[in-house]
Amino acid sequence: FEVYGVPIIGTNDVWKGVLLVFHDITELKKLEQVRRDFVANVSHELKTPITSIKGFSETLLDGAMDDREALRQFLNIILQESERLQTLIQDLLDLSKIEQQGFNLSVEKVNVITIINEVITIVNRKAEEKNISILFEKDMEPIIIEADPYRLKQIFINIVSNALAYTTNNGSVAIKVTNDSSKVYIDIEDTGIGIEQSEIPRIFERFYRVDRARSRNSGGTGLGLAIVKHLVEAHKGLVTVESEVGKGSVFRFEFNKKFIEE
Ligand code: ADP
Repeated sequence: FEVYGVPIIGTNDVWKGVLLVFHDITELKKLEQVRRDFVANVSHELKTPITSIKGFSETLLDGAMDDREALRQFLNIILQESERLQTLIQDLLDLSKIEQQGFNLSVEKVNVITIINEVITIVNRKAEEKNISILFEKDMEPIIIEADPYRLKQIFINIVSNALAYTTNNGSVAIKVTNDSSKVYIDIEDTGIGIEQSEIPRIFERFYRVDRARSRNSGGTGLGLAIVKHLVEAHKGLVTVESEVGKGSVFRFEFNKKFIEE
């Protein structure tokens, strides 16, 4: 609590008492802590690749570049770490834009089936590298909803990319789309590592990862699901997760066919 005291003075400068104002600042303090954690996280995430880029550049300049194999290997690391920085900055800018008040979707009529097919084309190379089959029924009838096509695509790219990242080689990712008169339901189911029940409520937090090293190795920034959550909320949709460790996870989405304005 923050407490203010204000003297109450009557006529002839007579003290009548003191007005005490108790201001509950728990929520403010919490927000302040969240903000501080966020800045600390961002700094850490930026520092790690920069340290690596600096270290490998210095080693090269100190003579390692005379060895052609080392030169190639170190330059590759420098390139990878730069790409990592680029992705992180892109995700940060995007998240800050989406979180801003007055963030606007560009809503139009969208065929969900087309969006899913485009997402599959984008992630296909990654799936092939790991020999993971993406199962999606061919030639589905169009399902038209009112949504922001760019943002809808972003949601599913993030989810399918995660499904691929957290599934070992030779697994599968199944995408199922159904609908009724008012809603469309999209399930993305993987045969991956799964998520502990107690972790599920936290995975949509910014920078929260169940396994930091694993996420980093798979190119994750820890912001993907935070972006997804905000975009689903902006569409007044719903996302839920079911998972079993060692078996796999299902990310379920529901969107209204008709977009509901504020
Ligand atoms: P990241 O960039 O680390 O993947 P996300 O915000 O996309 O960040 O996801 C947060 C965390 O949730 C991941 O680090 C991972 O631990 C967990 N996660 C997300 N999707 C899956 C999945 N399909 N299977 C298992 N774990 C997952």
